[in-house]
Amino acid sequence: MNSLLAAIPPREKIQSIEKPETKPPSEAETIAGLQKIVSSSRLGTFLQCRLKFYYRYVAQIKKAKTAALFLGNAVHETLKAWNKTRWKENRLLSLKELHDEFSRAWEEQSKEEPVNWEGEEEAEKLTGWRLLETYMRQYGLYLAIKPEAVEVPIEADLGNHGLPKLVGVLDLVQQRRVVDYKTSGTTPKEEQSAHTHEVQTCTYAVLYREANGQRELGIELHSLVKLKNPKLSIIELPPMSDSQETRLFHLMEAYVEGLERKDFVPSPGFGCMSCEFFDNCRRWS
Ligand code: SF4
Repeated sequence: MNSLLAAIPPREKIQSIEKPETKPPSEAETIAGLQKIVSSSRLGTFLQCRLKFYYRYVAQIKKAKTAALFLGNAVHETLKAWNKTRWKENRLLSLKELHDEFSRAWEEQSKEEPVNWEGEEEAEKLTGWRLLETYMRQYGLYLAIKPEAVEVPIEADLGNHGLPKLVGVLDLVQQRRVVDYKTSGTTPKEEQSAHTHEVQTCTYAVLYREANGQRELGIELHSLVKLKNPKLSIIELPPMSDSQETRLFHLMEAYVEGLERKDFVPSPGFGCMSCEFFDNCRRWS
């Protein structure tokens, strides 16, 4: 009896067997990991504001989702379902099916984390649906093009350039053109969009070329604009040029070097108005 009891490990040992303690990575380990793999959102955040990058990806401070992000995600998920049906089943979803997908996407997100709607959830949901309806009526309802890929994760090993691995997910590829979806509050202008989204579009071009072994024919930004009368804006950009690719690689170099130096200083400017870390930043010194 005694020998049997002796064979039973004490309670704290049982707990440690059942739930092995996983030590969170140190800050240095997190930074080392970020230096090895980069996505367009990481790179874009770093270039926009290094302190924001630090809060989001190194310190990993979680902030509640904004209503605009929630709505954008639900619209994006619905378009993903629409494209997957075109791709896999070779048919178009009806408006009724699309609405069901949108309701499902909205509910799924609601389970994740609370959003402070300030009593506006139904109005925001209606806005999201009106954007999708506008997109379908102006672009999708009779579309005969079959997608070549939908929501495909791709990675490009850029080690031969001395750069980290580039990773990303392409929303949609059709007719050798990469399509990216956006929701916005204002109608985008072509020249400004080409510039402000250059990191993202060039990242997609590199990933497309890696996966297909050929150049893309162009990149399209499909923006669903939240106006009183919702609007669709499609901006067609040419393939990434050699100089744009060189610029992207220089930016990636700056990213790696900045992380090496732990260069996480703030960049106060107009972007601060929508920054979720505004309060943290005001206390930074
Ligand atoms: S408030 Fe502005 S400066 Fe501060 S972290 Fe955000 S974007 Fe950067």
